Amino acid sequence: MQAAILSIGDELVLGQTVDTNAAWLSARLAERGVMTRCHLTVADHVELVTEAFVRVSRDADLVIVTGGLGPTDDDVTREALAAAMGVEQELNEEALTHIRQMFESRGRMMAERNAVQAMRPIGSETLHNPAGTAPGIRATLGDAVVFVFPGVPHEMRTMYDLHVSPALPEQTGRVILSAKINTFGAGESTVAELIADQTHRSANPIVGTTVADGIVSVRVRSEFATVDETRSQLDATIAAVEAALGPLVFSRDDESLALSVGRLLRERGKTLATAESCTAGLVGKMMTDEAGSSDYYVGGWVVYSNALKHSQLGVPSDVLEQHGAVSEPVALALAEGARERADADFALAITGIAGPGGGSDEKPVGTVWIALADRGAPTIATRHVFIGDRDMVRDRSAKTALNKLRVRLIGAES
Ligand code: AMP
Ligand code: MG
Repeated sequence: MQAAILSIGDELVLGQTVDTNAAWLSARLAERGVMTRCHLTVADHVELVTEAFVRVSRDADLVIVTGGLGPTDDDVTREALAAAMGVEQELNEEALTHIRQMFESRGRMMAERNAVQAMRPIGSETLHNPAGTAPGIRATLGDAVVFVFPGVPHEMRTMYDLHVSPALPEQTGRVILSAKINTFGAGESTVAELIADQTHRSANPIVGTTVADGIVSVRVRSEFATVDETRSQLDATIAAVEAALGPLVFSRDDESLALSVGRLLRERGKTLATAESCTAGLVGKMMTDEAGSSDYYVGGWVVYSNALKHSQLGVPSDVLEQHGAVSEPVALALAEGARERADADFALAITGIAGPGGGSDEKPVGTVWIALADRGAPTIATRHVFIGDRDMVRDRSAKTALNKLRVRLIGAES
């Protein structure tokens, strides 16, 4: 069975909303052994949507469509489906009653225009929507079965579980499992080179790299006839990839860099404090994004001005004056001041120029000093020059600091 996903909405093609529906649907289908052949996204325009219906139903046996089922003039999905099927629309009384009841249960009157949501192409079937007012539609178009759902993600998901999932064949003879291995500290091409043995396009499991926000991830997809074989082949490839990448790997699947650092701190019974200038609390925010972080993160200082670097963390005024705030001795003093005052095992300090202004020839925008103080070892600091805008410089600074601690915790410093 081959699927196609059609997403409808001006906001999607304009880039105002990211099409998360297609990603979610394809992942669910893959779990059931159904491959998605294409994602097609079109604007709220009746001719375009009609053409899109015709096209995707030619390419796939299962078509899932989301969006454009609302009551307003820009909701053209019903009309386009009818046009693609070559039929008129009819009112479904049962659906109309359901829509009325949904409004009444919320203490509101149904506006007359909502009645169009109970229309459907003649010969199609109305699908119950327990999560909202707009019902879905099931129709046959050429050889394809077409499911049409509202675009609102939680309604779409509820309706997939209710209407599509039970209709999928139980045994497809194919099981697909995938995993993601996350790395930090090397560029995508370096990572790709290290795993070159694994990345043949025709291989199964297939291995590929993606990069997002400074994190290079290796994706592995395994596809075999049985769960056991799919799982064991996936595990073997993951092991080979992780062996090739060594200490660059910080986590699997969705575990963040900060969470992996937190896990290491917890395992070792160690604590962390922070002193942040240009990132102004970003490392602290990342460390505390997950519940339970108080086990290892004690807190930190946002010391933006020189005065506060001196008064809060004891950075000597003459050092600040002589070397400037963005310098090795200031980074070292910040980390040591934070570690001692918080009585933590480790402290990370970040001081840099996030831009867009404030750079010089000697210290261009993106120059950042990152220091790590360790109760059991000398404090170290490293200089970085990050490229990108202010947000990127701050994000990479915070992640690089976290990674410095991670590498220390696993004893993998080169
Ligand atoms: P609609 O069903 O077209 O009225 O869409 C309702 C809302 O759902 C839109 O305003 C979007 O915020 C959201 N939405 C629609 N399609 C998608 C999609 N493919 N991915 C994520 N959100 C969507
Ligand atoms: Mg819409």
